[in-house]
Amino acid sequence: MPTQKTQAIVIRSQPLGEVHKIIRFYTVEFGKVSAVAHGSRRSKSRFGGSLELLNYGNLVFFEYPNKDLHRVEAFDLVDDFDAVKADFDRTAYGCYLAELVDATELVGQAADQNVFHLLQYGFETLAQTEDVPLLARAFELQLLGLAGYAPQLSRCVACAEVFHGATVNFSPRLGGLLCANCEGQDTTARSISRGSCELMNHLQKFDFSYLHRFRASNLNHRELKFVLSNFISYHTERTLKSREFIDNL
Ligand SMILES: [Zn+2]
Repeated sequence: MPTQKTQAIVIRSQPLGEVHKIIRFYTVEFGKVSAVAHGSRRSKSRFGGSLELLNYGNLVFFEYPNKDLHRVEAFDLVDDFDAVKADFDRTAYGCYLAELVDATELVGQAADQNVFHLLQYGFETLAQTEDVPLLARAFELQLLGLAGYAPQLSRCVACAEVFHGATVNFSPRLGGLLCANCEGQDTTARSISRGSCELMNHLQKFDFSYLHRFRASNLNHRELKFVLSNFISYHTERTLKSREFIDNL
């Protein structure tokens, strides 16, 4: 039975009995890994506070073959993103990004590495960005892209026509824009402004260091939030608790 080492970020933590915790990690080499951290709820645990949500470190775990639950041997903290945790709203968004990764189906090692770096870079940007919700939208779009669900934002998803106009229809079910001729194919499609559509196109393509160059209006924020939350609900088939929490902030 092998001992494995990998870089990892804590994306979920839940109690197990009186003194243990089950930790869900997102790792570079193995994607999502769940493991029991024995004794980690004790005040004098050898893990200290290293296994807090959002923490990034070097994980050593004992892998039980053909099991979903492994055992944490060690976790050496690299970054606890304290600048995120010093701010209540940023922490809430950090938890949302972690839960979103947890809820998204991802396949293959290339996806694992890219998603790990997206998460790491997402938390680093979260510590300093001025527009936190816009970072969340960029993260959602890029994660959807890595999961193979990138929304079609440049032409009609049904007939492939490129179209122009002040507003466009977005269909979460069909995964992109619908032109006027095809809008009957999804009666739940929602009309959004051209500006919001172009902003999503940019957020999908540019890395987070470009985020400060984009200015999102209140309308853009409302439309992106509505469209992407519906799109994500459709694909993950889950209600994200941290998302509901943010909506009530
Ligand atoms: Zn069409």
